[in-house]
Amino acid sequence: MSHKIAVVGLGKIATDQHVPCISKNKKFDLVATVSRNNALAGKPHFSTIGELIKSKVKVDCVALCTPPSVRLAIAREALDAGYHVLIEKPPTPTVGEMLAMIEYAKKKKRVLYATWHSRYNDALDLAKKRLKGKTVNFMRVNWREDVNKWHPGQEWIAQPGGFGVFDPGINALSAVTKILPEPVFVEASKIEVPENWSTPIGVEISFKRGDGKPADMQAVFDWRQRGEQTWEIEIGTTDGMKMKLTHGGSVLYINGKLIIEAKLEEYERIYAKFAKLLKAKKSDTDTAPLQLICDAYMMAKPVVVKKFVWDAGIGKH
Ligand code: NAP
Repeated sequence: MSHKIAVVGLGKIATDQHVPCISKNKKFDLVATVSRNNALAGKPHFSTIGELIKSKVKVDCVALCTPPSVRLAIAREALDAGYHVLIEKPPTPTVGEMLAMIEYAKKKKRVLYATWHSRYNDALDLAKKRLKGKTVNFMRVNWREDVNKWHPGQEWIAQPGGFGVFDPGINALSAVTKILPEPVFVEASKIEVPENWSTPIGVEISFKRGDGKPADMQAVFDWRQRGEQTWEIEIGTTDGMKMKLTHGGSVLYINGKLIIEAKLEEYERIYAKFAKLLKAKKSDTDTAPLQLICDAYMMAKPVVVKKFVWDAGIGKH
């Protein structure tokens, strides 16, 4: 049986990944799209989820690919209509909204799947296994990319609740929180906010262990990178193991030796997992990456930096 799914928020990620991966997966049938300004040829189309609910189109589940700031209200409407809900990352702008969404889905007895796409590859599965039972005392997260390339002209990323560079940074922390054997906590952070933005373009975070043991653990997220993009995580343990993950966590080295170059099929795996969750009627809603981002905001020393200007031809700034 295939699940009748509608995609909500037909922007970059919906078009690049959700629609193609749903089309490839026999367990799903794309029956409609909901978007105010975009549509897919040949599919029923609605401007709001309310219009979809009132229509005659039968829907089992929705994939919410809008910016996070509007997800809770849309998710509640979908859950009220009896739909199961998959949400893009970051799930919501605050932990409070995420907890409310989880509770609402429970109350409505529907599946809620908070996807963290950067968690889905074999290198991270292996890294998690190799770190099991060890004591981590070193970490460097180096996540530097060009905002012009990944969010061309997207004004919402600079608005409150738009996350700024925490939007890609949360991907790094979703990988870290997947593989670390114990949780880490934010000790201090610095956020660089362009004078025309409400969100950071650069972030530095230092972390601590929960047991007070000495550890040197830091993360840098920066959206001002040009040329080659850098998505790397290094981890060291007290027994001398040195792990390095490159290419967004998909290539794993241990003690300098290449262990695996994993296939990039994050969204294929997300939909395979969604089908399993729907079958089992189980939700999957890890709050850990969002909690760390919110804590980094809470502990931040803010610094105002120069006005951000999109590359020529992009956006309105
Ligand atoms: P996007 O291109 O701006 O697409 C989001 C779409 O949501 C817009 O096209 C818009 O379509 C709709 N939308 C915007 N504001 C809305 C509002 N206030 N109410 C209802 N609908 C609204 O953004 P995106 O890059 O696809 O990112 C969407 C989510 O996916 C974000 O959480 C992001 O972190 C995540 N993500 C993005 C990427 C990437 O490479 N960009 C990768 C992985 C995950 P309409 O105007 O037609 O309604």
